[in-house]
Amino acid sequence: MSKVYDVIVIGGGPAGLSAALYAGRARLNTLVLEKKKEGGQIALTSEVENYPGCLEGESGPSLIERMHKQVLHFGADFVYDEIESVVLEGSIKQLKGKKDVYKAKTIIVATGASSRPIGCENEKEFIGKGVSYCATCDGSFFEDFDIYVVGGGDTAVEEAMFLTKFGRNVTIIHRRDELRAAKSIQDKAFKNPKLKFMWDSTVKEVRGDGLLSSMVIENTKTGEQTVVEADEEDMTFGLFGFIGYLPKTEIFKDILTLDKGYIVTDENMKTNIDGVFAAGDVRVKSLRQVVTATADGAIAAVQAEKYIESLD
Ligand code: NAP
Repeated sequence: MSKVYDVIVIGGGPAGLSAALYAGRARLNTLVLEKKKEGGQIALTSEVENYPGCLEGESGPSLIERMHKQVLHFGADFVYDEIESVVLEGSIKQLKGKKDVYKAKTIIVATGASSRPIGCENEKEFIGKGVSYCATCDGSFFEDFDIYVVGGGDTAVEEAMFLTKFGRNVTIIHRRDELRAAKSIQDKAFKNPKLKFMWDSTVKEVRGDGLLSSMVIENTKTGEQTVVEADEEDMTFGLFGFIGYLPKTEIFKDILTLDKGYIVTDENMKTNIDGVFAAGDVRVKSLRQVVTATADGAIAAVQAEKYIESLD
């Protein structure tokens, strides 16, 4: 029989790393399972301004690296595998991954969320060929090119400002005529001379021969459609989508209680199954930030410890 961990944390973003830190410090035998690379969405963030202790200019990857080191220091194991199915009832929980099967007394689900697609025709075909959801990863490909950003929230506006470091012009395409982003972020954006706005607009279709070279924009008020073409010399442009996130809960459907796809927990991060906790962006909550994710992770780990004690 394979090793039975005290705690398995699924997901290596801020919530998962914080849970593993607290579990490790409590001397619980802890495993962090991550699909590819720890970090989650924050690893795609160019600058973390609002996490206490992050000084100006600290990037998401840098913050995650520091968190990861801290977790290693407290003895958690890390394994890269993709979990495909779970058995959560009973005293020993079982997770079946692509590479192996993992067992634990408690599970902390910190799988986070992924970018919501823009929702236009041909979108999938152009991912990595003009369409992107990560300014930090792909911004530099569009050095001196035109860049368009879809969305009007904090993420879209902040990432659009970051992209002005690369793009000749950056245009925010927003479906309404006012931004959702915080006033302080808007103030900075409206002062940025490289940032333009296309109001009341959505992207209906993206086109191109291999590379993205044009898109159809629809006015949400009039229904009028216009075609935006790439500059003749550039032949392409960047289109970044930042219109929110989708929780990664597919494998928990019909097992954990979900609300609009997010895991329902109580204030102690407990799900509907004993010994199973959820932390971070994947759960129902009012504020999805690094600071709330790390707090969730800490609470989940402490509750996992209490649950294990109650088993003895
Ligand atoms: P968000 O606040 O949910 O904003 C999503 C944006 O996308 C909205 O402007 C929305 O338009 C637009 N949108 C949604 N669906 C769309 C669709 N199908 N087509 C076109 N546009 C669509 O998401 P977020 O900006 O990623 O922020 C998520 C959370 O993280 C928020 O709580 C935010 O405050 C927080 N956050 C904070 C910071 C910071 O404090 N520095 C940075 C990043 C994120 P409408 O406005 O018309 O609904």
